[in-house]
Amino acid sequence: TMEYGPAPEADGEARAWLKQHGAVFGHFIGGKFVVPHSGKHLATIEPATGKALAKIAQGSSADVEAAVSAARTAQPLWAKLGGHGRARHLYALARMLQRHARLFAVLEAIDNGKPIRETRDLDVPLAARHFQYHAGWAQLQEREFADQVPIGVIGQIIPWNFPLLMLAWKIAPALAAGNTVVLKPAEFTSLTALLFAELAAEAGLPPGVLNVVTGDGATGALLVENPGVDKIAFTGSTEVGRLIRQSTAGTGKSLTLELGGKSPFIVFDDADIDGAVEGVVDAIWFNQGQVCCAGSRLLLQEGIAETFRRRLVRRMETLRVGMPLDKAIDMGAVVAPVQLERIKTLVETGVKEGAEKYQAPGEIPSEGCFYPPTLLWNVHPSSTVAVEEIFGPVLVAMTFRTPDEAVMLANNTRYGLAASVWSETIGLALDIAPNLLAGVVWVNATNLFDASVGFGGYRESGFGREGGREGMYEYLKPNAWSGRKARAKALPPPTQSAD
Ligand code: NAD
Repeated sequence: TMEYGPAPEADGEARAWLKQHGAVFGHFIGGKFVVPHSGKHLATIEPATGKALAKIAQGSSADVEAAVSAARTAQPLWAKLGGHGRARHLYALARMLQRHARLFAVLEAIDNGKPIRETRDLDVPLAARHFQYHAGWAQLQEREFADQVPIGVIGQIIPWNFPLLMLAWKIAPALAAGNTVVLKPAEFTSLTALLFAELAAEAGLPPGVLNVVTGDGATGALLVENPGVDKIAFTGSTEVGRLIRQSTAGTGKSLTLELGGKSPFIVFDDADIDGAVEGVVDAIWFNQGQVCCAGSRLLLQEGIAETFRRRLVRRMETLRVGMPLDKAIDMGAVVAPVQLERIKTLVETGVKEGAEKYQAPGEIPSEGCFYPPTLLWNVHPSSTVAVEEIFGPVLVAMTFRTPDEAVMLANNTRYGLAASVWSETIGLALDIAPNLLAGVVWVNATNLFDASVGFGGYRESGFGREGGREGMYEYLKPNAWSGRKARAKALPPPTQSAD
């Protein structure tokens, strides 16, 4: 048993759950926790205090093999349940999340460092909604995807910024379509995935349908290489996405990649400035800026640039950075020391390359991984911070003169995940939107998500869509047999001979 950091009373239930497991976790395979073959564990820390929180298993090839084989055994039975049968399970998972919403919200806030207000109001309810929505597709599957069948066993690898929500985005459509899953959560934030798997089994999800193997990138690579996996779905960095694409090339495995971004936030002279300032707060300081579609590049039309800067700086002064379980904070801790160092180094580089730095003067906790809301002003479009994804609470700003220049600057990136356009002239905004190379464009808004709308990127932001009908197709393949039948029917009848 290990000690984990003190936290306010609110974490009582999460604390009890950790205690119940002695704060040491195995993998969740075939419906139960199992001890890792290697016997090796990794420590996971509480980012807000720097204290040890729990130990998670480091998955070896034997662990991955056990999980894939459990998923393989379960898959035909899960598929045979039919759409309606699977829908009942998905609804049960949604209700399970709602019933334990507080436990999930607290555990996620402690493990990741994000504000409890966000986990309570967004991460957990949106995860539940994702299961409800995909229960609907499962019910409709035989009618709407009549010529499609499940792909089989899906290996899913997710990042640490929205641990529970990314789990939902991955497993809800995969399970709805009749696949079974081996999920590898991020090493910094595996706890809510383990809790989810445990409570899913209690809620009656058949053994082997959802398996969780924990560990670092090496475990992820073992899952990618396992020949028993039919598809890999990955969310994370572009760098790792590239490795996975190389490693799956020529294997017959399907692949979808949801990668990084450097999304533009474009404000025209005629925008509602106060509205746009609030939009920026949400775009870059939500979840400490650790959001793949964060509006991290502020592009301001010259006429309003100075006014905008003054109001934004004033608003930054009101943002509170503090302990994740404090309901009054706007920003919590960054996920890990390694990320904090990366953010610091990039900001230093930005300043060296000529940017002016503004930081909110408010107090931040002295221990743990905290970084203040930061604005880099007068950033040159080719400067490192204008090009590299910082994945932290750092906004870089530059100006433009004309709509054409705005589009050119916005598209001047390797990525293409999201974009936000602010103008009171709707004609202008709608004119610009289709010219932006991004998977989603928000007009006078930011960070709007819905389970029914496909989300995904272009270029180095990856390929494939999550959510909506298009998201279901990522977990289905054409049924070769019904395809043959359809083609046979379409053939013209044999020609009658005249004699
Ligand atoms: P990461 O790529 O380092 O890690 C993501 C996951 O991949 C983790 O579970 C990790 O253990 C695993 N992994 C690492 N090396 C691996 C390997 N060689 N083979 C297989 N798996 C491996 O990314 P991160 O630092 O955890 O996450 C931040 C990044 O994720 C950012 O770039 C961000 O933009 C991106 N992201 C994208 C989306 C999206 O939907 N497009 C969503 C969230 C995060």
